[in-house]
Amino acid sequence: MKTSNETKEKVVVIGGGVAGLSAGVYALKAGFEVEIYEKNKIPGGECIGWNRKGYHIDNCIHWLTGTRKGTELYDVWKTVGALTDETEYAPLDAFYTSTYNGERATLWNDLKKTEEELIKLSPEDEDEIKKFIRYVEYSKQCLFPAAKPMEMWGIRDYIRMGINMKDFPKVMKEFGKISLEDYSKRFKSPLLQKLMCDYLPKSYCAYSFLVSYATMADGNGNIPMGASLQMSLRMEKKFKELGGVIHYGCGVNKINIEKKMATGIELEDGSFVKADYVIPTVDTGLLFGKFLSKDYMPKELKTAYENEKAYPATSGFQVAFAVDKNFNRSGEMSETVFIDIEPIKVGNRSFDRMYVKAYGYDPVCVKDDKQVIQTCITQTDEDYYFWKSLSKEEYEKVKTALANEVAKHIEKAFPEIKDSMEYLDAWTPLTYERYCNAYHGSYMSFVTTPYGKQIKMKGQLKGIKNLYVAGQWTNSPGGLPVAVASGKFAVQRILKKQHRDINI
Ligand SMILES: Cc1cc2nc3c(=O)[nH]c(=O)nc-3n(C[C@H](O)[C@H](O)[C@H](O)COP(=O)(O)OP(=O)(O)OC[C@H]3O[C@@H](n4cnc5c(N)ncnc54)[C@H](O)[C@@H]3O)c2cc1C
Repeated sequence: MKTSNETKEKVVVIGGGVAGLSAGVYALKAGFEVEIYEKNKIPGGECIGWNRKGYHIDNCIHWLTGTRKGTELYDVWKTVGALTDETEYAPLDAFYTSTYNGERATLWNDLKKTEEELIKLSPEDEDEIKKFIRYVEYSKQCLFPAAKPMEMWGIRDYIRMGINMKDFPKVMKEFGKISLEDYSKRFKSPLLQKLMCDYLPKSYCAYSFLVSYATMADGNGNIPMGASLQMSLRMEKKFKELGGVIHYGCGVNKINIEKKMATGIELEDGSFVKADYVIPTVDTGLLFGKFLSKDYMPKELKTAYENEKAYPATSGFQVAFAVDKNFNRSGEMSETVFIDIEPIKVGNRSFDRMYVKAYGYDPVCVKDDKQVIQTCITQTDEDYYFWKSLSKEEYEKVKTALANEVAKHIEKAFPEIKDSMEYLDAWTPLTYERYCNAYHGSYMSFVTTPYGKQIKMKGQLKGIKNLYVAGQWTNSPGGLPVAVASGKFAVQRILKKQHRDINI
């Protein structure tokens, strides 16, 4: 590290999403000069929202892990300015509701209430329901470790984890190698089978679902009021307050490597920015192949890109509408409701389930007497290829036709909103590809399935001494916790290399 009399060492961060802003804040706290280069006009990357016809469409947070004070992840969210002790959260008391054949089942945050309701719905599944609830309870012990990267853990850290997570190995043993689809078959009730498979892609390892539900049930997975974009803007504010500079509309083309050192970045306009350290936070599909030669790609990532079945990418076909603001505000079910629909072909596959999420809990998504509702039909690699194969005209035509079909399904399931329903927007995997350069339009990292190993990158690449990779793709299945922690970890790795204190 140069002394205070010399100019500070410069960290250049590529990407102004959650990982990039986090890396920026932590690098400033560590005393570096920091510049972020972002191709878009606003911060946030995937964690944003946009306006249509005066309504706000929230693109991202369905639940934010790490909202409980006292957890390591909460400290990270607080440090980067995303959350404060005054942050208010959506007053929601359930994860979601699944409906089927006129019946409905809800995963309440209150596990006892869920257990009682599910047993009432399907007494013949009592043992399996009780087991599910017991294992969700165990899963509450699975807290995201965000104090430092695991390669810096000492024996005491492992002992502490062993004590705090003493029951979690049981979850991994039982649910670590079984897909949600296979797990759901343990229930006799078709409604409960749907409930288990509705939220995450069916190929996900079942434990991911249990941990997600446990996070909500434990009060550690909330939705900050004000929606996703506001959270990203709070991070940007913190970064700027600490003296960081962020360049918008500045796409990066390449990272320059000379004699095993990243000397800086080349922008799309051809100019060059020198750096002492480079932290790329973009998609690894873009990093290796465009910014850097594919030869630098770690073996485990290469395996993932070459095996779509074991490492699928997830995206969505999404539609937003404005409807009566009283819709689904009675508290009898959650604000996210899955419904059965006549099969609809989206991309290359057919779907018979769809959800409707009502955003009326947040005034940001309410205008006059209407609120925003959104729906998402999960898309994967083969659907991406379908969208990609269309011409511009075909794409618009297919998108509009599907949005109309989706509207009809919603009207049929909820006739009470038929008259108030107003179309706002529809978007596809290609939207995320265009906006964030997301691989196959995926807004999470690779899905963790029973057929592939979880990706866990240490951030450094063989053959480059001063480059530290961050972003959600460093650790599958990605998501906001991985993104924010990866920014911090990249800076801690630099500090470790410099033999400095990593506690920032
Ligand atoms: C619909 C949806 C729902 C989601 N729900 C949740 C949820 O409930 N909970 C959760 O934890 N996560 C959720 N996520 C995922 C979450 O948004 C992402 O995991 C997270 O935002 C990824 O952050 P990142 O910084 O790693 O990547 P990104 O957000 O992709 O940031 C990368 C940045 O790099 C920029 N960039 C790309 N190419 C270039 C270039 N050439 N030059 C310069 N900059 C470039 C991009 O514009 C972008 O800003 C959701 C995402 C979506 C879209």
